[in-house]
Amino acid sequence: ATVPTIRLNNGVEIPQLGFGVYQIPPEETADAVGTALEIGYRHIDTAEMYRNEKGVGEAVRRSGIPRDEIFVTSKLNNGFHRRDDALRAFDRTLADLGLDSLDLFLVHWPLPTIDVDYVETWKAMEEISRSGRCRAVGVSNFHAPHLSRLFAETEIRPAVNQIEVHPYLAQDELRAFGAEHGIVTEAWSPIAQGKVLDDPAIVEVAERVGRTPAQVVLRWHVQRGDVVFPKSVTRSRMEENFALFDFELDSDAMTAITALDRHERTGPDPDTFDYVP
Ligand code: NAD
Repeated sequence: ATVPTIRLNNGVEIPQLGFGVYQIPPEETADAVGTALEIGYRHIDTAEMYRNEKGVGEAVRRSGIPRDEIFVTSKLNNGFHRRDDALRAFDRTLADLGLDSLDLFLVHWPLPTIDVDYVETWKAMEEISRSGRCRAVGVSNFHAPHLSRLFAETEIRPAVNQIEVHPYLAQDELRAFGAEHGIVTEAWSPIAQGKVLDDPAIVEVAERVGRTPAQVVLRWHVQRGDVVFPKSVTRSRMEENFALFDFELDSDAMTAITALDRHERTGPDPDTFDYVP
């Protein structure tokens, strides 16, 4: 079964399932992404912060797969939120990836407490979008008030908001707010870095449908309409995480998983996170 695509608010199509490379060591990244491409993944999520863009680019080139068949996302690192810095950081990302253009570029964190206003940063993202070297631009870790300021003070709507979402942090309000404004939610740490996999409710659904807990949780995301890109460096898990489109969860299973929400983050709170490298 093939991976469906989701149409973004500017008409660009994004594969709903991708491969995330956070915490993959730079020297292992080309091989891991190469394996993912062999398995059939056609969407890679990286970031300057992960220091492995070069490996991603190397794998894309080595694969021989036409560039326009692979969707590549990267992110503007913290510390480059001023306009000129953002434009240079984008150039650096393209150079490190060794690509002429990117499919999606995101503001990695809003950093609402630092001395640069993320509205300035977003206006730089608009310039990048207009340059024609990036098919879509979006944000990550933005809360509704951050998005509302962009709506009021800038022209281009973010295509996506990439936020932490998993059964312990269902994010239904922020996802609905995004949807109301034409913004697709991308769910990061979709299996909470493994923490949700031994939850009894998830294990029970997995046993009932004859799938693994990881597949059940990833399928839950897919049926909610979010984009996911689980990370693994183990081929068998990469294959497991890719096999999501030949089964379905019924509404009881969906409800049981959503009921696990306990507003629990694995990562930082975007309202206070101010890390600048
Ligand atoms: P994840 O939820 O994808 O979990 C990955 C971990 O779960 C792996 O290290 C592995 O230990 C385990 N795992 C993976 N598949 C498994 C399986 N089938 N069975 C058992 N265990 C399995 O966590 P993540 O890497 O944090 O998130 C995925 C991607 O989201 C990242 O690689 C990155 O691209 C993105 N991300 C973005 C942000 C952001 O701020 N925008 C933050 C974190 C992650």
